[in-house]
Amino acid sequence: RSFATPAFDTSNPRIPPYLKLTKNYERVKEVLGRGSALTLAEKILYSHLDNAEESLLTNTNGGRDIRGTANLKLKPDRVAMQDASAQMALLQFMTCNLPTTAIPASIHCDHLIVGEHGAQADLESGIKMNQEVFDFLESAGKKYGIEFWPPGAGIIHQSVLENYAAPGLMMLGTDSHTPNAGGLSTIAIGVGGADAVEALVGAPWELKAPRILGVKLINKLSGWASPKDIILSLAGKLTVRGGTGYIIEYFGPGVQTLSCTGMATVCNMGAEVGATTSIFPFSPAHVRYLESTHRHDVAAEAKKFSDIVSLKADDGAKYDEVITIDLATLEPHINGPFTPDLSTPLSQFKKTVQEENWPEKLSAGLIGSCTNSSYEDMTRVEGMVREALEAGVKPVSDFYITPGSDQIRETLRRDGPLDTFKEAGGTVLSNACGPCIGQWKRQDGVEKGTPNAILTSYNRNFRGRNDGNLDTMNFLASPEIVTAMTFAGTTTFNPMTDSLQTASGKEFRFTPPSGKEIPLQPFEAARQEFQAVASAPDSSVEVAISPSSSRLALLEPFEPFPASELTGLRVLVKVTGKCTTDTISAAGPWLKYKGHLPNISANTLNTATNAATGEVNVAYDTDGSPHTIPELAQRWRDASQPWLVVAEHNYGEGSAREHAALQPRYLGARVVLTKSFARIHETNLKKQGVVPLTFANEADYDRIHACDEVETVGLLDMLRNGGQGDVSLRVKSFRTNEEILIPTRHAVSRDQAEFILAGSALNLLSQKS
Ligand code: SF4
Repeated sequence: RSFATPAFDTSNPRIPPYLKLTKNYERVKEVLGRGSALTLAEKILYSHLDNAEESLLTNTNGGRDIRGTANLKLKPDRVAMQDASAQMALLQFMTCNLPTTAIPASIHCDHLIVGEHGAQADLESGIKMNQEVFDFLESAGKKYGIEFWPPGAGIIHQSVLENYAAPGLMMLGTDSHTPNAGGLSTIAIGVGGADAVEALVGAPWELKAPRILGVKLINKLSGWASPKDIILSLAGKLTVRGGTGYIIEYFGPGVQTLSCTGMATVCNMGAEVGATTSIFPFSPAHVRYLESTHRHDVAAEAKKFSDIVSLKADDGAKYDEVITIDLATLEPHINGPFTPDLSTPLSQFKKTVQEENWPEKLSAGLIGSCTNSSYEDMTRVEGMVREALEAGVKPVSDFYITPGSDQIRETLRRDGPLDTFKEAGGTVLSNACGPCIGQWKRQDGVEKGTPNAILTSYNRNFRGRNDGNLDTMNFLASPEIVTAMTFAGTTTFNPMTDSLQTASGKEFRFTPPSGKEIPLQPFEAARQEFQAVASAPDSSVEVAISPSSSRLALLEPFEPFPASELTGLRVLVKVTGKCTTDTISAAGPWLKYKGHLPNISANTLNTATNAATGEVNVAYDTDGSPHTIPELAQRWRDASQPWLVVAEHNYGEGSAREHAALQPRYLGARVVLTKSFARIHETNLKKQGVVPLTFANEADYDRIHACDEVETVGLLDMLRNGGQGDVSLRVKSFRTNEEILIPTRHAVSRDQAEFILAGSALNLLSQKS
């Protein structure tokens, strides 16, 4: 085919650099051979290679064995940061002493707003409580020319979808649900702040070339099934680890039947199966959504770009695995409690609730968030609520609605759904994360320690995730199913088969929901005070950090790797069971210390379970004294005693939260030894100079214990050889003095070896910048 390049519009920074991407794509086709068939994910990723020859040829088998082997060096187009993680990302960026970012970036104030009484009151108190942090973020935005979305403007992923996501774009976001933008044919990857800083300074960002899992969608959703059910059922099949190392690429005729926002919901929750990201091919729904969100120019340019690269998989492109989902037979699913992959079809849920002795009473139903607050979601729910109200039926459980952005809120206000929700007694919360991230101050008298059930249309349901109560069983479902059960007040209700009673004793049954993909009129603009502030970089701006602040502290560089093996390490704690980034660095009330490394470190591993005793947040010093895990870590830091953690599978599952790597490093961790790691967390550890190792033989987990003394064997050579070579651990038992050698595996690349040797990625970047 001809690669004649059309004239692209390069004047608008919200349009991807299609001209550059086209040229890169042509180069990639030359390197790989014109006849090579690529998946969509590969096309977009490879168009962002810093150096196609190096990535595709020199470190692979002539371009043929790229997946799972090559280390791609990529140049993303954009970075988005949420307020909690942006603090550390910007503190790191500041140490590089650059006048501005190398690529466009945005800051979104969403995580720090508590959900309690309703939008206005919560926003006011949230701003008051976090003013110092918001001032810091805004001043950093002004100084470096980063767009600043004030509190109340919206949740990062919704704002990105409405404003920045574009077909063919590649972006990084300092949040694990960044893949939401894949619903608009964007490669969007959740990363830690140190990765974001690499992209912000213009350094290539490294990614092990992912394998591609194809999900073929056939037929069309009907009745109560919604896009959320695609990913809820897929999570059940894949489990929380099944997507690790993969990009999930959707294809097949069913794609054409989905809305852009429905695709975003599916991609959003790809994070729950550990996928690097998820993506849908460019479709007419994308054009409709772009135009409705006032981006006719992006839609027109995307079409031109797609005429050249064809923003879908090439005929003959190979997926590493294919899963087929028949949308026509897909049933609504409910996932949970406590893990997003425990998936139960709606028809089986009542039976499961009774068998498992889960609470039948539903305390609250929460809809919206970055996952499910689209116009389509909300109009489908509105239809149900209106129908129930007209029949005289009101919600039995508390009903909360979180709009994803002020643009969607204003549109829902204009078109009626917001009033309908309020008429039903629903509480509309601010356009922020609130209850999705532990920032939910419940007003219903359910005390901590009380077992109870809630249902949300959010994406994640680890223990304590919503209200900080470890006994709240949190189930995930589509907004429609959440709403139906909220009206029923019970987890055993099935709206497909069951009826409710009206006040006058009549039977009421919901009709299957229907809504509108996009509004008839284009989306309403956000209110003035909730629009993004964009400014040119201004070096005269002082970034606001008070030296006496308990919320923000400038960073001190970590010391470099010693010119020797690591010796004299001790096992701080051996943990058992799930160890997510929430376990390693809890959110909720701790979010306020995100910009203050010493203060937030006091939560390190504070919900981890000690493998020896089964106790939560208890570790024992060598003198036998019990401590909380962070207290013992601090004690060992004070005594200059370096340490390691031993853990089981998928350590660091969950989010991109780099604090989960920074805090252990700050407290003295040098190694984390596990049965396996979650991808983002493993990378984050290396970026902070901590060495992640996995057991070569999983059974060795049983041979190492708390307080054992450890030294590395082969680590220094491996690092000096750019990640080549084996590493073992010589372990001296604390109890018996017996010595054993534990062989390990690692996935340290050349660049990552340099980070570790320098002490952290940031140390290296600041040397180079
Ligand atoms: Fe916010 Fe929850 Fe979305 Fe994360 S998943 S961005 S906490 S709404």
